[in-house]
Amino acid sequence: MTNRTLQLNDALYAYLCSHSLREPPVLAALRAETAGMPRSGMQIAPEQGQFMALLAELLGVERYLEVGTFTGYSALAVALALPETGRVITCDIDRETTAIAQNFWTEGGVRGKIDLRLGSAVETLDSLASNGEIFDFIFIDADKENYDAYYERALRLARTGGLIAIDNVLWSGRVADPAHDEPSTTALRALNTKVASDPRVSVSMLPLGDGLTLARKR
Ligand code: CA
Repeated sequence: MTNRTLQLNDALYAYLCSHSLREPPVLAALRAETAGMPRSGMQIAPEQGQFMALLAELLGVERYLEVGTFTGYSALAVALALPETGRVITCDIDRETTAIAQNFWTEGGVRGKIDLRLGSAVETLDSLASNGEIFDFIFIDADKENYDAYYERALRLARTGGLIAIDNVLWSGRVADPAHDEPSTTALRALNTKVASDPRVSVSMLPLGDGLTLARKR
């Protein structure tokens, strides 16, 4: 028994997965396809995808926005949990990885729910905001140096009571290791510090995957 978060060794992690994961075959196939790619570590863990799908159900999400598509796992996991009327907008700059994403969205039967926006995410978010678009759930998982820019725009785009989820906030432990001062690590540290005391949100930082902060817009 412990009153702090457990460290998961391999056996306990395997137990967690075998006693909770319900990964649909199309998501498992996408994970297998992505595993052979050079940047496969950018894909979220399957237990995180399932958690985000559960959040979408709990929040009654109709409109989900994500910054950083990669090969489309999180968009697919959430789209599968949305009602027929649900819509996903996902932003990326990479044509190759998002081509894979689109194939699997089609295979999963949710291609029609997902609107892929290729180009600068800051510009896409600004254009969504100027069109008055509002989202129930926003997932930030792209280039870390721009996280603060994405977070500020997400606060504008989320409905009151809506959820902003920020990925990789523990950055393989580097945020807590003074030996690391890369721009990505520095940017994550700065945003973590800011969000922790940001009065605009209620917040929880979860040691799920590579660290996931949940911020509910007040
Ligand atoms: Ca990530």
